[in-house]
Amino acid sequence: MFQANSDIKYLQGVGPARAELLKKEIGVQTMADMLSYYPYRYVDRSKIYRISEIDGNMPYVQLCGQITQMEEIGEGHHKRIVGRFSDGTGWIELVWFQGLKFVSKAYKVRTPYIIFGKPTVFNGRLQINHPEIETTDQKDTDTTTPPQNRRTVQPFYHTTDRMKKHFLASHTIAKLMENLFSLITQPLPETLPQTIIDQYHLMAYDTAIRQIHFPTTNDNLRRAQARLKFDELFYIQLNILRYAKNRREKTNGYIFNTVGPSFNTFYYHHLPFPLTNAQKRVVKEIRQDMRSGRQMNRLLQGDVGSGKTLVALLCSLIAIDNGYQTVIMAPTEILAEQHLETLLNFLGDMPLRVELLTGSVKGKRRREILQSLLDGTIHILVGTHAVIEDGVQFQRLGFAVIDEQHRFGVAQRAKLWNKTTNSTNKTTSPHILVMTATPIPRTLAMTLYGDLDVSVIDELPPGRKPIKTIHQFMAHIDRIHASMRRELQLGHQVYVVYPLIQETEKLDLQDLEKGYADICDAFPEYKVSRVHGKLKPAEKDREMEAFASGKTQILVATTVIEVGVNVPNASVMVIMNAERFGLSQLHQLRGRVGRGAEQSYCVLVTKYTISETTRRRIQIMVDSTDGFQIAEEDLKLRGPGDLEGTQQSGIAFDLKIANLARDGQILTYARAAAQRLLDNDPDENQPQYHVAWQRLAALRDTNTNWGAIS
Ligand code: ADP
Ligand code: MG
Repeated sequence: MFQANSDIKYLQGVGPARAELLKKEIGVQTMADMLSYYPYRYVDRSKIYRISEIDGNMPYVQLCGQITQMEEIGEGHHKRIVGRFSDGTGWIELVWFQGLKFVSKAYKVRTPYIIFGKPTVFNGRLQINHPEIETTDQKDTDTTTPPQNRRTVQPFYHTTDRMKKHFLASHTIAKLMENLFSLITQPLPETLPQTIIDQYHLMAYDTAIRQIHFPTTNDNLRRAQARLKFDELFYIQLNILRYAKNRREKTNGYIFNTVGPSFNTFYYHHLPFPLTNAQKRVVKEIRQDMRSGRQMNRLLQGDVGSGKTLVALLCSLIAIDNGYQTVIMAPTEILAEQHLETLLNFLGDMPLRVELLTGSVKGKRRREILQSLLDGTIHILVGTHAVIEDGVQFQRLGFAVIDEQHRFGVAQRAKLWNKTTNSTNKTTSPHILVMTATPIPRTLAMTLYGDLDVSVIDELPPGRKPIKTIHQFMAHIDRIHASMRRELQLGHQVYVVYPLIQETEKLDLQDLEKGYADICDAFPEYKVSRVHGKLKPAEKDREMEAFASGKTQILVATTVIEVGVNVPNASVMVIMNAERFGLSQLHQLRGRVGRGAEQSYCVLVTKYTISETTRRRIQIMVDSTDGFQIAEEDLKLRGPGDLEGTQQSGIAFDLKIANLARDGQILTYARAAAQRLLDNDPDENQPQYHVAWQRLAALRDTNTNWGAIS
């Protein structure tokens, strides 16, 4: 009998070794886990192509024919086996780079095979690399009709690690799946309310789960996929929207009615330039939230250089005018220090106390700051995550700003809510503004930050020239140096950035040191600073300071300068090994230049041999300076799992079947359905929706990330 939560080791065909593989390598613990281990690809085995029909742009194809000759060529790394495969209408090369011993034994010439793979063109010849090969009893290979048992859509499962001694091949998993389904004698219980199934014309769960593993037709398969994607996204949305609703109901926000002397003095006497329209609109949106009596949770998206800091300051002044304190949190010490400096510059001689609290503020100084927070004499506290440590308490914290949010998850945000000592009413929480320059595509934002309202600064301050971006190969270092020299001679400054990735840290540092030496050699007439994570903070500060103040003209650095740093005189950003950065990271880095009125340049340097995908990603950077467009394209090329920062979001991202880049439409429907369910059944007690609440509870039990949102 089928029992959803019984251990997978009880499934026929699964012994201790396989149970271990299933659990450790693909996370399948129970029968239910196995049910939702979906195939990642399907092959339409209902058609056999003729080689004369094939070109290099086609997706996977199935061919029937014979290998007419096979030979091993090349030496060492380049050693490979090349076979010539022919079906009477033409021939195609089969190429193997790995497992050559196995290949040379397993495949015979003049034997009928059905092969399967993705055709490509190399040196003008059609090839399939590492084809899947099966023998066939079909003697007549001049056919487009597959043998009887092949006329279906065949599922492929991700296998366990093939390099290990034991592994589970796709067809083994398929066989286990058959064993599993032979246990299921009753229809599987429906997981969505009937009204939703009807409204969106969804396939029943039981049908969908059978079709996803054993599709009968392409059309059924597509409907099954749609149903299960909807299911997956619906429950993610229901979880988030319900969380947001609960929070809204449970927590009040402080009411900031007054716009008083701090705001007005600043606005009319200290503001160095007029606000952009986008800044004005956003300040207005935030003011409305601050007056509403509800706690604000707002995400402020704005490209690098769009002036988010000023918005944060203006809103802080409103909080101060209403008798509350503000905290502004940055991801790094350098950034926190810069914020402090920026704020002090903006505020000039206004009688407000702004202080810095980071990990390096210690001892007496720290105690003094903590005391002044309690006294209420500090108006604005700027800091790193040190400000959310236990022991940091405010007298009246009313407004919290989190800058560069992708490093702060839902849980850290929640920590801010009880930082005030005199909280007479425990359920009143400070307003929270999360600022990010990482443009999060809409579909992703809906999933990740479904509980936040969103404001966008979609306008840069006037007078900025778009940065020109150029792709150069490392081999042309002389051209890169020439561009640098041109700008240096105009009195501008130059950044040269190297990636630093933890796993390859040593090598990266060597790269940087060598790059530094090369630059010093090539530009003896200029002074060069060097900054990386291994320097002592004091040393780092000294080097940064030298560059910021113009004492040095070139800064060779790792990504410590990634966010926030402001040197308007810098006009060139050279990014070495650009292929190793994410697109939004490249965009952030590029945003370090183009801050003055002069034309600025970004040079993306890669080695000569880069993959097609890398080339396209670099091209996106060359073509666009619009962070949102870049993020959208990036999402399409990479898939959401790779998007920087999503891991820290605190929301499960191991989607089993849905794909955020491609399934935006289904996501929109699923979100609407979830919202309607919440509206129709606010007390969660209507029998027709019972199934949904039960399913949500079960998902929250098995998914710790989901449970963390409560
Ligand atoms: P980001 O949104 O990347 O945090 P910043 O707040 O650092 O951007 O602002 C970038 C630069 O633009 C700063 O030098 C800031 O003083 C300036 N700036 C901000 N708002 C305006 C404006 N309305 N007009 C002109 N310059 C502005
Ligand atoms: Mg900023």
